[in-house]
Amino acid sequence: MTNWQDRAAALYDGGFRPMVIGGKWCSSTSEEVIEARNPANGTLLATVPKGTAADIDAAVTAARAAFEGPWSKFTPFERQALLLRIAERFEAEWEDLCLSDTLDMGMPIQRTLANSRRVLGMLRFYAGQAVSIHGQTIPNSFPGEIYSSTVREPVGVVGAIIPWNAPIAGSIWKIAPAIATGCTVVLKPSEEASLTVLMIARIMQEAGLPDGVLNIVTGLGAEAGAALAEHPGVDKIVFTGSTATGQAIARAATGTLKRVSLELGGKSPVIVCRDADIEKAVPVAAMAVFANSGQICIAGSRLFVAREIHEEFTRRVADYARGLKIGHGIDTDTDIGPIISARQAERIASFLSSGPAEGAQTLTGGNRLSGAGFDDGHFIQPTVFGGVTDDMRIAREEIFGPVISALPFDSLEEVVTRANATPYGLAAGVFTTHLGTAHKLAHRLKAGSVWVNMYHAIDPAVPFGGVKMSGYGREGGTEHMEEYLETKAIWINTD
Ligand code: NAD
Repeated sequence: MTNWQDRAAALYDGGFRPMVIGGKWCSSTSEEVIEARNPANGTLLATVPKGTAADIDAAVTAARAAFEGPWSKFTPFERQALLLRIAERFEAEWEDLCLSDTLDMGMPIQRTLANSRRVLGMLRFYAGQAVSIHGQTIPNSFPGEIYSSTVREPVGVVGAIIPWNAPIAGSIWKIAPAIATGCTVVLKPSEEASLTVLMIARIMQEAGLPDGVLNIVTGLGAEAGAALAEHPGVDKIVFTGSTATGQAIARAATGTLKRVSLELGGKSPVIVCRDADIEKAVPVAAMAVFANSGQICIAGSRLFVAREIHEEFTRRVADYARGLKIGHGIDTDTDIGPIISARQAERIASFLSSGPAEGAQTLTGGNRLSGAGFDDGHFIQPTVFGGVTDDMRIAREEIFGPVISALPFDSLEEVVTRANATPYGLAAGVFTTHLGTAHKLAHRLKAGSVWVNMYHAIDPAVPFGGVKMSGYGREGGTEHMEEYLETKAIWINTD
């Protein structure tokens, strides 16, 4: 059996981890660093460079040189082979990658390990896409021998900015399509969780990714992130994070009219109809929020339950929550790990107070955890609020923590209107045994993904993204390739 504690000590010893620009591992021009601490116990894992606008500039220059230089000579088949080699290296180092994420951002090790199907699948899916990119020959209205066709070209230098809640999948979803299409990347990971992304860059370099194709600049959002968003040498920004930051990035990008795609926040509804299979629905509805301690963009945090079964269902979700084991991510029996930072835990705690203050009933949880094993980390009990109304803050704002707001409903018409009455539109869940209800709700809910009798399904081959203030653009599926490609029309007169 793996001894995760020993492996953790060997992986991170508090030392400095450089970032990579143009294939060279380096410090920031400022020489300043950011501390990476384990959110479960505060241990210093490593320090990383606090990248500056000058570092971003150097990284964009390196990415441009690679884009116009050796990388442009790679054939689609060579890019495919490279992605497949990277997938093999990922498979070989998968446990260390997962351990790194668990230590750096707290996700329970059992959950990070379970992500291999998705992440390896992504690398292999985009390897397939690399050799599927092609234009069209298009008939036109001109007389004579004038031929028109299109070719698909990589968009260029892509600036990628990601949050801390899923560094492995989050970064691969930005990097793999870039490699598939022939783009180059400057990636800024979250200042809260940079370590695994640096490991990923090392693995890709060892697998043969040419210098400058992937540059990582660690640093703060307001400094390195903002510099990347407004840099004139960047052709496209792909961003995952909060809606407020997405708005700032969209504004920054207008200066050079660079293309932007945004995967933002959510306040997703889960609707449990009176004909639902309660036994099966309870754990799925609970984990729709509690997975990764609620720190998931698609958290189904508004739990609408048909009034006839509302009391029984919410009681059972609360019982389920009480059975979850809270602890350090590195313990293999942990269900709920720590919250990423003290700041984030305080934010969640403000919802734990606002709920009851506005009249919600605490069915379980409702507290930050302290005492043995918890004092040096940031832990919040899985919480279920009953008696919630649509106007309460807990029912309106994204909490990004393990908090469910349960709301009764009386009719399908009513619940569709209420579920859609949010600025967000990322995801929705439906539990029903009635085929007609499944179809009706799936079509009428305004969301980028709707899951029926399941939740959380995200697959490399299926598009994922939001509507309304959850963003625009899609990741996954063939549509994702469009985000990294331009279409050029070519006309040839042979008369
Ligand atoms: P955040 O918006 O605070 O930060 C995300 C990234 O943006 C970080 O790398 C940060 O350094 C950077 N950043 C911050 N300010 C910036 C600026 N002015 N210019 C450029 N970059 C800047 O988000 P977070 O707290 O790290 O993550 C949580 C949020 O991410 C939640 O709202 C969640 O819903 C969202 N999220 C969405 C998805 C999705 O696919 N839709 C997935 C995961 C997380």
